[in-house]
Amino acid sequence: MPIADLLHSSAEEYLKSHIRTVPDWPKPGIQFRDITPLLGTPKTLRVLIDLFVHRYMDADLKYVAGLDARGFILGSIVAYELNLGFIPIRKKGKLPFSTVQAHYELEYGSATVEIHTDACRRGDRVVIIDDLIATGGTMLAGRRLLEELGATVVEGAAIVDLPDLGGSRRIREAGLPLYTLCDFSGH
Ligand code: AMP
Repeated sequence: MPIADLLHSSAEEYLKSHIRTVPDWPKPGIQFRDITPLLGTPKTLRVLIDLFVHRYMDADLKYVAGLDARGFILGSIVAYELNLGFIPIRKKGKLPFSTVQAHYELEYGSATVEIHTDACRRGDRVVIIDDLIATGGTMLAGRRLLEELGATVVEGAAIVDLPDLGGSRRIREAGLPLYTLCDFSGH
């Protein structure tokens, strides 16, 4: 088995056991997958970050882009470790300079994300990172923004996939490779 697969499969249950499920938060029917215990435990934080660093060390990247807000925590540590720059993709109305926007539909309602127009340049290779993939809408909106600036989005990455919501399938079908560390069934 390739070393990357071996590392991944041996870490999966370890990381998963440090993700807390909070039922009915923020609303009834949602099982919130809370990664704060994973971040708050020094040993799991290190394993978590090292898996992403190991995957992208030789990927010839220029930036890691993080999705608001938990993607900022992960993405900035990974960017620092890889000697790359970090790009925040923010919820609407938070970035001070000129921006481009992407609007997308959520399960209930819609949302808009933004990026600074000078965040990256044509041809820059970027990975997008977030904590979790549900419907995949946020990740695909982030990719649209980066591509509008001319960047090449090499891969999407997240800790958790919720495969039953179809987001990871949607992302891959849209032609964006996706790397996730563990999955949970159901919502
Ligand atoms: P989506 O765009 O539907 O893939 O939603 C992904 C975004 O919503 C991520 O930024 C997650 O942090 C958040 N999210 C959606 N569902 C959950 C959940 N069950 N537990 C934790 N975060 C979630």
